[in-house]
Amino acid sequence: MRRALHLWAVVLLVVCHATAPLRMPPAYALSQDEEIRISRQFRREARRQLKFIEDPEVELYADRIGRRVLEAVGNIRYPYRFFVIEDSSLNAFAVPGGSIFLHSGLIQRVESTDELASVIAHEIVHVNARHFHVLASSTDVAMLVGMLGVFLAPVIGPAALAGPAVAMTRQLEFSRQMEEQADNLGVGYLARAGYDPQAAVTFMQRMSRDRLLNPVGRPAYLLTHPLTDKRIANLSASIRAQGLSAPRFRDADDVQRVKLLIALRDKPDAVVDRLRKDHEKHPAAAMPAYALGLAYAATGRWVQARDMLERAARLNLAVPNLYRDLGRVYLHTEEISKAHAALERMLERRPEDPISHLYQGRLFEKESRFREAARAYLKARQLAPFWPEAARRLGYAYRKLNQPGKAHYYLAQSYLLRDETGKAIDALERAAQQYAPDSPRQQVIRDEIAAIRAGG
Ligand SMILES: [Zn+2]
Repeated sequence: MRRALHLWAVVLLVVCHATAPLRMPPAYALSQDEEIRISRQFRREARRQLKFIEDPEVELYADRIGRRVLEAVGNIRYPYRFFVIEDSSLNAFAVPGGSIFLHSGLIQRVESTDELASVIAHEIVHVNARHFHVLASSTDVAMLVGMLGVFLAPVIGPAALAGPAVAMTRQLEFSRQMEEQADNLGVGYLARAGYDPQAAVTFMQRMSRDRLLNPVGRPAYLLTHPLTDKRIANLSASIRAQGLSAPRFRDADDVQRVKLLIALRDKPDAVVDRLRKDHEKHPAAAMPAYALGLAYAATGRWVQARDMLERAARLNLAVPNLYRDLGRVYLHTEEISKAHAALERMLERRPEDPISHLYQGRLFEKESRFREAARAYLKARQLAPFWPEAARRLGYAYRKLNQPGKAHYYLAQSYLLRDETGKAIDALERAAQQYAPDSPRQQVIRDEIAAIRAGG
């Protein structure tokens, strides 16, 4: 999908990193509620125009990094959401109110989760420090969403770079002072969240090298490229001045796995072919067998996936996710008891993994054990409150349990998480009808409906 590709590259660079003249933000005219409303309206528009990746592994990977950085921020002003957009251009951006968007092309360009976290931390600072000063002069929400629509404009080709779209993006740029603040605070949050602050520097250096190696073919990139040597030097100095250092203990990094899943969405056959050749070259090695198994699973070839993943397990591959992958594959090959055993093994190692709990719920559903299924989905929801799929499955489980009040309620939550406000209100109305008039439960649901209506 090439839509908006060039413009998006410009938008990243202009909005996020342009070195605009130093200027102070005017008094802020938007209330936080208005910003949150803008965020929601923007997401609704974005969902119409862009492809959101809903693969749980990719979706929750971005969400997990974002939440971890937010814990380090402490004073969180907004209901943050993190999304991955299927688009191969390098881009990330935030809109007021806490919606942060990452292109899959950005994930493909990072070499570690720490590097991706550095971009996310930078964007969080822009939102949390209310850097959208250009929006401050107006309180007309519709107009502001329209302005942000420049992010979504379907523009093809560099010719569009000279039009009003650029003038619009120029109005959205941050000042150099704000960029510095986002860099400096960003690395601090990065380190406190347990990531390596140096990753912010290595990522910028690599982007800068790429720019020198490939000066043609990316006019948008060159036009507004933000990565000055001075900025990189300032960032290094800031890391030293703040006394930030790399964490001493690290979890396994999932970035290569997520990159593989993204590549498989893009060119499944080519990737499967390449991994098959790797495996044939090294038939006794665990990792190539595992990667091929993952690729088969991602393309729905469940029996071949099972055989490859079992092979990796026999070769003693020490990757905890292997057992979640096996559990998922057995779910599809209908090997229920093996699936339970694999997921239990995974959860012994990573009890806080929401995806494994969700797969467990699906196994229980297959066995018509709906009470256990609901419990597993509740656990998944508790671990990943922003994951619509956990709420949706929970709604279905309650329907099977003949608890229509809860069924409608949780379906409504899944709609809300996808910004489908109309459907959410309908489902909440239906939930409310299941309870006695003026009962406390009905009142709570009615209050929720009123709050959603007020929020837009
Ligand atoms: Zn920035």
